[in-house]
Amino acid sequence: MTDHDTMLAPEDVERFGADPRATFRANLASVEDRIARACARAGRARSSVRLLPITKTVPANVLRFAHAAGISAFGENKIQEAMTKRESLGDLDIDWSIVGHLQTNKVKYLTRFAREFHALDSLRLADRLNKRLEREDGFLDVYVQVNTSGEESKYGLHPDALLPFVDTLAQFQRLRPRGLMTLALFSLDMTEVRRCFVLLRELRDKAVEHNAGLTELSMGMTGDFEVAIEEGATVVRVGQAIFGKRPTPDNYYWPA
Ligand SMILES: *Cc1c(COP(=O)(O)O)cnc(C)c1O
Repeated sequence: MTDHDTMLAPEDVERFGADPRATFRANLASVEDRIARACARAGRARSSVRLLPITKTVPANVLRFAHAAGISAFGENKIQEAMTKRESLGDLDIDWSIVGHLQTNKVKYLTRFAREFHALDSLRLADRLNKRLEREDGFLDVYVQVNTSGEESKYGLHPDALLPFVDTLAQFQRLRPRGLMTLALFSLDMTEVRRCFVLLRELRDKAVEHNAGLTELSMGMTGDFEVAIEEGATVVRVGQAIFGKRPTPDNYYWPA
């Protein structure tokens, strides 16, 4: 990497520290420790939970430090932001995941480079993805997003719509259904948050009978990943605990 590639803007120094690699290493160690302790509490093996670091708003040049600190999978909410970064980081070996809502007209960008997609929530989108992948002779790991909080602002299928949806997924041969994904209620009331995770787990148990591939549970973020692990999460999507507080408000990602 060149000096130019790793030059930090003053606001980036403020957010990530003068030595972002050290910052990310320390944050990662702390998140790892919390994951290990949640696994121990739940009697689960650490290897049963995958940490997916979420890098939205982290600039591409700063992501070079994250990569140097040992992070090689990045999850992005918005496809445009992911594409821009991927272009800047083309020399690094990175697994890209898209975890946010995708418009059908953006499908071709995603299939070009993403390894997995965590926000599948309509048959129209499944059909578009599948057609595109047929043309490119590719495959994509997908997670079906379910709205477990009942909030209108959250994307995802209504829980009652899941099983019929799952039955039709099998016809899309280019999609590899891996599991279910949810965003819990944004609340400090952990009883309410936990209820969302329990619901997703119960839905997964039912869905497994319909589609053998749907075993994973992508749930848990900075504010609630330990509770998610206690309730069975197999993928936790963690951003701010690793990369610091985001400058953008949450409603930029989850419109009210
Ligand atoms: C941003 C984001 C996360 C991570 O949120 P943090 O609060 O930064 O941990 C998880 N899932 C999705 C879909 C996101 O967009």
